[in-house]
Amino acid sequence: MIPYGRQDIDASDLAAIDAVLRSDWLTQGPAVPRFEEAMAAWCGAQYAVAVCNATAALHLACRALDVGPHSRVWTSPNTFVASANCARYVGATVDFVDINPATFNLSLPALATKLAAAERNGTLPDVLIPVHFAGLPCDMAEVGELAKRYGFRVIEDASHAVGAEYQGRRIGSSGHADITVFSFHPVKILTTAEGGIALTDSPELAARLALLRSHGITRDPTLMREEADGPWYYEQLELGYNYRMTDMQAALGYSQLQRLEAFLARRRALVARYDAAGFPCGRQQRPTDRASAHHLYPIQVPAPLRRKVFEQLRAAHIGVNVHYIPVHCHPYYRELGFRSGDFPQAERYYAQAISLPLYYGLEEAQQDYVCRQLSQILEDLVEG
Ligand SMILES: *Cc1c(COP(=O)(O)O)cnc(C)c1O
Repeated sequence: MIPYGRQDIDASDLAAIDAVLRSDWLTQGPAVPRFEEAMAAWCGAQYAVAVCNATAALHLACRALDVGPHSRVWTSPNTFVASANCARYVGATVDFVDINPATFNLSLPALATKLAAAERNGTLPDVLIPVHFAGLPCDMAEVGELAKRYGFRVIEDASHAVGAEYQGRRIGSSGHADITVFSFHPVKILTTAEGGIALTDSPELAARLALLRSHGITRDPTLMREEADGPWYYEQLELGYNYRMTDMQAALGYSQLQRLEAFLARRRALVARYDAAGFPCGRQQRPTDRASAHHLYPIQVPAPLRRKVFEQLRAAHIGVNVHYIPVHCHPYYRELGFRSGDFPQAERYYAQAISLPLYYGLEEAQQDYVCRQLSQILEDLVEG
């Protein structure tokens, strides 16, 4: 089976993990801050806090921005459930903004309209979580302007978008978000097995993220509320979690970061080949002021054929997938009051969606096979 995505682990990655396993520190050692500093520097952010997965990073981001039961958080329905669940973890009310049918990202006109209505009703969001779907950055300048005008904060779910660029700046330093989150799950651009990171330019937010990552505990005397009664003393200041990344993971992440430019270049080349294949399918439109990290290659096939195309590709050992079932259509979100039809563009997109294989190790011959199979299947189905 040719999978839709997979990691690439080379000898330098293995050596990095091996060195940690032989060292004194499997966790809470020097590999984590080294990885954090390297990621922050590469992306052009001031601070980075590495955690056990991106879902945890999104949860911490909500906590750091004081999102709670009285808060409203909006995100895109065309995303993995974690983009919305993070707000539910802290008891906030979740709502969605429909997508742009060309970019498959959150629609700026839909956002502007919804914000104007929310202002009239007194239901403005506290936080917006734009998602850079498939690695393509959202319209962050417009998001940033609306954030200023209506007074909400912004968490970028950049799980797909490590290495993407927006108006000449890497995601993580666009200046239009309070916190940026990346995922290092094996199907993403670079991996730490499980892992995630939160980037920010705010020292206060960075300190809060770091505190909450490790139980809300501090050993910093300047932060303590009581006098230390010995050198062993530490204080829990608020209710945090164990969301730490291990040193093995951080060492793998650091090693993978040295290969990131190669990962991105390979994905770009494969995407150019898919673009040139000229399938009779809809595809993501990519505005020229931004560069996708190309996590996914989503196509649109006629909705009545989607299931057959999917099944026949799988039968041909091509591990296609579908991204995403609109979040509001899941039973958990239906129980919160959402219905089919609430976000028609996301639903229409989903009904036609298939993600083709795209990953660093995908060989051109394999990609040509995918292209041939897809063209043949479409031809047969349209004729038949
Ligand atoms: C993968 C993903 C996440 C969650 O990442 P984990 O590291 O698996 O927790 C969140 N949001 C989006 C858009 C994702 O694709």
